[in-house]
This record gives sequence, C-alpha cells and structure tokens, in this order.
Amino acid sequence: MTRETDVIHAGYRHSATGAWMDGPQFSATYMTPGEPANHPLTYGRFQNPTWSAFEEALTLLEGGESIVFASGMAAIDAVFGVTLKPGDIVVLPSDSYYTTRVVASNWWHSLGMQVRQAPTRDGAQAAALDGAKLLLIETPTNPQLDVCDIASLARAAKAKGALVVVDNTTATPYLQRPLALGADVVVASDTKALTGHSDLVLGHAAAADPQMAALLRTWRTQHGAIPGPMEVWLAHRSLATLPLRLGRQCASAQQLAEFLASAPVVSAVHYPGLPDHPGREIAARQMLASGSVVSFDLGTRARAEAFFRALTLVKEATSFGGVHSSAERRARWGGDAIGDGFIRFSVGCESFEDILADVRVGLQAAAAA
Ligand code: PLP
Repeated sequence: MTRETDVIHAGYRHSATGAWMDGPQFSATYMTPGEPANHPLTYGRFQNPTWSAFEEALTLLEGGESIVFASGMAAIDAVFGVTLKPGDIVVLPSDSYYTTRVVASNWWHSLGMQVRQAPTRDGAQAAALDGAKLLLIETPTNPQLDVCDIASLARAAKAKGALVVVDNTTATPYLQRPLALGADVVVASDTKALTGHSDLVLGHAAAADPQMAALLRTWRTQHGAIPGPMEVWLAHRSLATLPLRLGRQCASAQQLAEFLASAPVVSAVHYPGLPDHPGREIAARQMLASGSVVSFDLGTRARAEAFFRALTLVKEATSFGGVHSSAERRARWGGDAIGDGFIRFSVGCESFEDILADVRVGLQAAAAA
C-alpha cells in the first residue's frame, strides 16, 4: 500500500457494532480478578486500548514501535531519561526547539549530564560527537528551518557509538522517516501537523529497537507521562487526513515562500524548498515535500507588529502545522538566535489566494511602519 492509503486505515479496529472505529475508552481501572498478569488491561496509567490503536498506526508510519506521550516534551524527556546517566554527553542542535535545550541544560545537566550544542546547518553536530552518548537532531529546525542530513549524521554518530534521536515534529512521518535513514529513535510533538487541528497537545516516540521501545513505555508508565484517551482518539481521527492536509499546506507554503522571496520589505526567507536554501538538496533527498512552515524576516519589531495588526485571516498564535494559518513574531518568546522582525508562518489549508491576499496587506502595512 502507499503511505496515503496506509494512513487512512492504520490502526483502525472496526468495532463489534460495525462502527468504523471504537470510541475513546475512558477507564481508570479494569476488573482483574486473581492474577493481574492474566489480564491485558489492568490500570489506566499502564494500558489503554485507544492508545494501542493509535500506536499501531504510528508504528506503521514510522517503521518502529511507537509509544504515545502526553506531549512532545514528555516524549523527549523520556528519551533523555532512559538513555542518559550522570557523566554522559548529549549533543543537541544549538538551534533546536528551545525547550529541548532548556530541559537538557537545566534539569538533566543538574543530574550530571553534559550538554554540547552545535548548529544544524552543514551537519556541524558531527564535529561534537567525541565521547557522546546521544545525538539529538532536529530537521527542519523550529523556527529557522535549517536542515541536516539524517543518514550521514547517523553514520557519524554510530561510528562514535552514540545513539541517534531525531525530532521529526516539523516534517511528520508522512514527509520524512528518520528510522529508515538510520536513526535509533524518533520523537515528535503531535500537537503540530501530525494531528493538525490545534485542538490537542500530544507527542510520541518511535524506536528501531524493541528493547528501547519497552524502556520508553516503562518510563511513561512509571512517570505517568500519559495522554488522555480523548486526545489520542481525536489524534487518530485526524491522522487519516495527514497527506491531504500536508499536501495542500506544503504546496501553499512553497508558493508563499517564493512570493516572500520577491517582496522588497522581506529581508530573508527560510524555506527548504527555495533554490537558495543551504539545505535544499538534502531536504529534496530525505523529505517528500518541504513542509508547512515558512519563516521570514521583516527586519524590525515595528514592521513585524504592523504586519500582524493588518492581518485578518491569519491569526497571531504560537504552534504550527494546523489547518488554520497562523504566524507569530518568534522573538517575543526569547531563546532563539533570531532578530526582532523574524516571523514563523504556519501555512494552513485555506485557499492559497486568500492566504496571499492577507499576507500582501500585512506586508504593505509592514513597509509603511
Ligand atoms: N519539538 C519541536 C520541534 C517543537 O516545535 C515542539 C513544540 O513546539 C516540541 C518538540 C514540544 O512539543 P509539545 O508542545 O507537544 O510538548
């Protein structure tokens, strides 16, 4: 089957009533007379059939056993938790999602782990691998959309005995499959494009090695980083439209990036599908399309704020990957090496004509500010 077909049927367990899908199962406990080991379902923090169905779908898409978590950060934290011991070195991208760097540099560092950072661009993390236990890659990065070669970094890390983890949030397993490129573990925020409706917070990890998957599952059970059944059910329902949503979003994002690249008020555009993007060839090789996020720079905070004041369709909001277009001046959060006029734009499923019309008005306002 093609990935488009797989994603529609993945993990669907047609109910005994003939319904297409069982509803979410809300149960904190199960009736378990006698030996608990004789019962597949025992307690709501340990197992849930709604999780299992969604995990079956993710496992098919990722190509490795998948474990759903309460959020992307819960999945990332679990990977640090099961792999790192005091004295171990973890190599992070210096331009990754900033909370990943904060968690490693504060919480895990305080327990004795050493954190090294190097940029995503030009595979610079490869030079920081000596003695490392874990390499975490994020490609394309949030929010600067830099790209690195997963297969080549995975080879370099394995040669040094390091495990390779890829944060695949911006791409999703529809656009990019890191396990097939040599990664050991994938982590992702499913709050973003994977579910795409901006109505839930969720994450997952997928592992090539079943023993690693078992460790992650145990971490989730014992630390309680579990998602609610309703969120997981909604996520599963949303998954079927991932190729449709992302197909349209990526096509519009490409057009928007090209338009922005020709706009005089825009000083820089970051999008892996643009001919002058430094990671363009790598992205074309390892991704099905260049993603639904376009970042660009309006130079100053005043121009960026004027841009947002003029928009009507596109809402100023954090997060990305949803069916509704949204954007934000990313520097308002801090933590990234970006200018005050840097905008991360998440292209939704609306008609491109309407998105473009709104952006044109925004850019006019920015130019006048
Ligand atoms: N990884 C990346 C690349 C992200 O962009 C985010 C959130 O923005 C996360 C991880 C964390 O995900 P969550 O907010 O679901 O915990």
